[in-house]
Amino acid sequence: MPHTQPSVHSRNPGVALVLLAALTAASAAHAQTPSTLDIYWIDVEGGAATLVVTPDRESVLMDAGWPRPDFRDTERIEAAMRDAGITEIDYLLISHFHRDHVGGVPQLADRVPIGQVIDHGDSVEQADEAALALWQDYETVAEGRRRTVVPGDKLPLSRIEFSFIAAHRRLADAPERRAPNRRCAEATAPSIDESENGHSLGYLLSLGGFQFLNLGDLTPDREYALACPENRLGIVDLWQVPHHGGYGAIRPELAGALEPTVAVVNNGPRKGGTPGSLESAQGTAGVGDVWQSHRALADGAAHNTDERMTANLTEEENCEGHWIKATVQPDGRNWTMTNGRTGYSRNYQSK
Ligand SMILES: [Zn+2]
Ligand SMILES: [Zn+2]
Repeated sequence: MPHTQPSVHSRNPGVALVLLAALTAASAAHAQTPSTLDIYWIDVEGGAATLVVTPDRESVLMDAGWPRPDFRDTERIEAAMRDAGITEIDYLLISHFHRDHVGGVPQLADRVPIGQVIDHGDSVEQADEAALALWQDYETVAEGRRRTVVPGDKLPLSRIEFSFIAAHRRLADAPERRAPNRRCAEATAPSIDESENGHSLGYLLSLGGFQFLNLGDLTPDREYALACPENRLGIVDLWQVPHHGGYGAIRPELAGALEPTVAVVNNGPRKGGTPGSLESAQGTAGVGDVWQSHRALADGAAHNTDERMTANLTEEENCEGHWIKATVQPDGRNWTMTNGRTGYSRNYQSK
């Protein structure tokens, strides 16, 4: 008799111990499980601020929006940082020294701890007084932590391959990515652009099979040089189109060769996202969904993408500044685009 009773009792602690061990193992596994790769296109009203947060929560922000003494653009960047669960920016990249990209740097540096500051080289527009002031404000923030990169340079991120492919008008040569481009037969070389735009940084990021290309405000002549006579970049999954999708900003010979599953346009209500550009993105064979930071309000509505894939619909004065977010699974196979305004999302697979 005393035999059966204790055996029932002794089994319970045993089960509990097994359960406890399983739970401990599960939580340890959870702690080591990488998070997703998250990319945020922060609405800075026709400027740029694109935040990349790696599965290990390292962070790369390219551009900081406009100079805003009311900290509007800084606060929108901070909102994305909170969503991603980070409190500092490890690498601040400035694509080029125009007001809509570098203007917000002093305010950002006031509020947010920043590690390294990275650029294409000195501003080439210092002869202009306003542009010189932007450059000098940047130099003050960058002092002691500045790095100038050349194409081919990389950022030392875990799990992620992050390479600069454009800087200071130079382009990376990655022979393994080169592919013939039949679209070059009909394309004519655009005239050379010596402005800061043409000097913009561009980078290519990959996680497993997933690839994201961000070309800043790179100009048509540089796009053409990336695309012809041979496509230097291969195909990508996700593409931030150059120069906010402004007039002539999307070269079909590049867009078609990249075959992006998704093209993101970081436009404002009245800056970028112009008819010619968006139609050339939507109408180019190989380009999939187009997502926009804003409905473009200047030229009628017809050329805009589906409202579900548009983060902001209003004029700047009453805009709430919603982001678009890409969430990439740690293995790089599957990823999701989400509209920060509505939560609407679409799932995609890497090629
Ligand atoms: Zn710009
Ligand atoms: Zn807005």
